[in-house]
Amino acid sequence: MNYLAPQELLKDKVILITGAGDGIGKQAALAYARHGATVILLGKTSAKLEQVYDEIISLGAPEPGIAPMDLALAGSDDIKQLADVLETTYGRLDGLLHNAAVLGERIPAEHYDIEKWMNVMQVNFNAAFTLTRLLLPLLRQSKAASLLFTSSSVGATPRAYWGPYAVSKYAVEGLAKLLAEELESTSNIRVNIVNPGATRTRMRRAAFPNEDPTGVKSTETLMPLYLYLMGDDSKGNNGETFNA
Ligand code: NDP
Repeated sequence: MNYLAPQELLKDKVILITGAGDGIGKQAALAYARHGATVILLGKTSAKLEQVYDEIISLGAPEPGIAPMDLALAGSDDIKQLADVLETTYGRLDGLLHNAAVLGERIPAEHYDIEKWMNVMQVNFNAAFTLTRLLLPLLRQSKAASLLFTSSSVGATPRAYWGPYAVSKYAVEGLAKLLAEELESTSNIRVNIVNPGATRTRMRRAAFPNEDPTGVKSTETLMPLYLYLMGDDSKGNNGETFNA
């Protein structure tokens, strides 16, 4: 996408990003902060979140919030507690980027270890639902909120041997489309899906260890699209899938 984001695109917006410590989520957190947003960094590894926090502070951007949370283990009580803190601190949420995910193994579903399968579904899908369910009251407080789900080409049409990763992304797309319809005429919240496509991150390396990473696009190149979808210029988009 050629979109050129205005410098103040996200001024005064409060945006939560899951998986903000690494890869695409980290890049998005930095880009959103650079464009004026107060970002809340949610992720598994505190040290990574703290590093992103420091980078954002050194940019002179609004002070971010940090929410260390292992989405494989977090229950609805933990997420409700987070929602309460955000409510007290910010009073609303203008954006929620569901980005955290794990790849899992690529083997036939027939042989997949059941607990490992559930773990991937938990991080990639159930946690995204629970977060959405408990943060919707805060998103409703925004004049124009963007709820953005991350899918994958193997999720749009589940591909053999991609196991719960593909199935969880298929479910994520279903949830996003359901919410887009339900919220369209009853809220100021738009719901869209982004598929970043092959991007040079740890996950991509794990999925394609023999690939030459220099031929894979960087996380930076995704940012015009990620900014467009979070800013008010995408107010008219709802229930759509954006392939980077
Ligand atoms: P990375 O593996 O680089 O980053 C994933 C992020 O999710 C990390 O910050 C990680 O935190 C976080 N995360 C993983 N497990 C948990 C957990 N249990 N609790 C909290 N946070 C967790 O992946 P990418 O940046 O490549 O992927 C970002 C999104 O884009 C994903 O949804 C992915 O499916 C999607 N995608 C990526 C593609 C690609 O080519 N890269 C292609 C298509 C889709 P920590 O570092 O602390 O573990």
